[in-house]
Amino acid sequence: MAEAARSHHTCTTCKQRSKTMLLLPCSHLATCEQCVADLSSCPICSRTVSCVIRTFIV
Ligand SMILES: [Zn+2]
Ligand SMILES: [Zn+2]
Repeated sequence: MAEAARSHHTCTTCKQRSKTMLLLPCSHLATCEQCVADLSSCPICSRTVSCVIRTFIV
């Protein structure tokens, strides 16, 4: 159960680091800071990313 909860917060691209980058306009929290640099569209919904917001999950 703890493993599932952790994977929920893991980057969808590298599956190693925590998701910290919020993609706009779709508002999906999908990737870590490293992976978002290579991203042109959201890996969850495929919408074009126009802006990213850095977030922190405690
Ligand atoms: Zn990543
Ligand atoms: Zn999305």
